[in-house]
Amino acid sequence: MFQSPGGFSRTRQRLCLAFVLALLAMLAAMTLMALFAGCGSGEKPASTAVPSGGAGASVSTSTASDPYAEARHRMVENQIVARGITDERVLAAMEKIPRHEFVLAEDLKEAYADHPLPIGFGQTISQPYIVALMTELLELKPGEKVLEIGTGSGYQAAVLAELTDEVYTVEIIPQLAASAAERLQRLGYTQVKTRNADGYYGWEEAAPFDAIIVTAAPDHVPPPLVEQLKEGGRLVIPVGPPGGYQTLWRITKSEGKVISENITGVLFVPLTRSPSG
Ligand code: SAH
Repeated sequence: MFQSPGGFSRTRQRLCLAFVLALLAMLAAMTLMALFAGCGSGEKPASTAVPSGGAGASVSTSTASDPYAEARHRMVENQIVARGITDERVLAAMEKIPRHEFVLAEDLKEAYADHPLPIGFGQTISQPYIVALMTELLELKPGEKVLEIGTGSGYQAAVLAELTDEVYTVEIIPQLAASAAERLQRLGYTQVKTRNADGYYGWEEAAPFDAIIVTAAPDHVPPPLVEQLKEGGRLVIPVGPPGGYQTLWRITKSEGKVISENITGVLFVPLTRSPSG
């Protein structure tokens, strides 16, 4: 169809505009992609599950001594601080701990990524944000006694060990219990007491605890864990069906009463039970 010179130049203007807009869209997409690579996706992230900044001033981010320091700092800033975690002690712990020491050799590049990673035996190390959220909810003070159910790689236990000297952790899979114990020793977390057992029953001889954290999901809150909480004690636990909708709860014992707070939806590996109990 014939177009007047004016119409032609309008078409050219529109084409130019479309070109500029496309260019801008491409730039925006590239920026977003860079952002996602750094901080992952999802506001309501899943947790440990299926091969599911503001840090302490004393922590060095020098790349010469630790090639992962920069990635770790980005993890804290982009995944943890950005989602609202403010507890300086938790942030400093996660800025310090070499998470790459807790993942499989083939996943080293992913060690500080915004998702859980496999650790063998169908189990996973939790997503960094979930570790930070659960730890913050425990409100651990130095000297308090804390119990973890589900040692896995030992990473969460190391985070707890940065906050208090009294850390107990139970793992049901013998090989994971052994490798986590060795790793924690090697990395200097010698005060962590490890045990290979069914954590449903807690750790009676060491009870009562100021705080208990469960990093696998049972379908109900194990009564022994509530019993082993001190007055004023906090239990942070995901509860729900395997692979289904699970809720992260904080349960506090106060003046003989048990107060339950629903924190958020999560996805954890199931708390399994040993046949002998
Ligand atoms: N906290 C871990 C990740 C937990 S994955 C970390 O930082 O790496 C959940 C772990 O809970 C798995 O290692 C699984 O074997 C363990 N687990 C499942 N049921 C358990 C039970 N009844 N008692 C103790 N550990 C259990």
